[in-house]
Amino acid sequence: MRLRNKVAVITGSSRGIGRATALMFADEGAKVVVNYRNNEQSATEVVDIIRGNGGLAISVRADVSNPNDIKMLFTKTMDTFGTVDILVNNAGICPPKPFLELTADDINAVFSVNVVGVVLCAQEAAKIMISRETGRIINIASISGIRNFGTAGNMPYAMSKAAVVNATGMLAKALGPNVLVNCIAPGFVDTEMPTSPEYVERVITDSALKRMLRPEEIAHACLFLASGDSSGITGEVIHVDAGFQLK
Ligand code: NAP
Repeated sequence: MRLRNKVAVITGSSRGIGRATALMFADEGAKVVVNYRNNEQSATEVVDIIRGNGGLAISVRADVSNPNDIKMLFTKTMDTFGTVDILVNNAGICPPKPFLELTADDINAVFSVNVVGVVLCAQEAAKIMISRETGRIINIASISGIRNFGTAGNMPYAMSKAAVVNATGMLAKALGPNVLVNCIAPGFVDTEMPTSPEYVERVITDSALKRMLRPEEIAHACLFLASGDSSGITGEVIHVDAGFQLK
């Protein structure tokens, strides 16, 4: 077991990539905090699966765009498991809208979850990790945040994910030498995140592997970055994109 007794907070783990990561981490021995915003039933289901397999998990409703909720998420984690070894900043939103219709509120809504939420969760985790001189933070960006791979109808999302890539390097510098911060930039993953059929078609056609990714394929990269196998890596971006950027 590669994460035996480690405590992992995984934001947005009621569904999709976060869910797959929570289940994989628990299988590797981690105690898991399943965070969600709305979907209590799905979060409870993830916790039930982990407990049913003999693992330890709790679910915590917390909106990562709300600084008070973030503090509460880490307080509950400390009260339950006593520490935080791993943070996966996975929660993210991607509401599509044509550029000419975008409002300041639309842009702020995306940035408050995808960027501010990531940095403030990292800050709360870092307070615990720095004092213990150990910790791993993994940010989930997107291939949309790399060069100009995003789509015009999702501009705030692409901009926010570019910011996550940059924040990863800044956090890695700020939190060394004991806390390692890395980032995964997934290509198109088969989850409930909204997207257009044209985009799916384009991604499949343009990727070397000619298919969507499975959430577990992102979870495996998270596991690598959370485990001792990646002890020499910080400030890095791993592209798990089915070869999309080779195009
Ligand atoms: P998803 O299926 O839409 O699930 C999103 C998760 O985030 C849910 O658990 C949701 O909770 C939670 N969430 C959303 N807003 C939140 C908030 N304000 N506070 C707390 N939790 C919140 O998404 P996904 O496809 O698994 O994506 C996960 C991450 O990977 C995101 O950062 C996304 O940008 C990134 N990514 C996805 C793809 C892709 O193709 N799917 C590609 C590249 C990157 P509720 O269930 O309660 O709503």
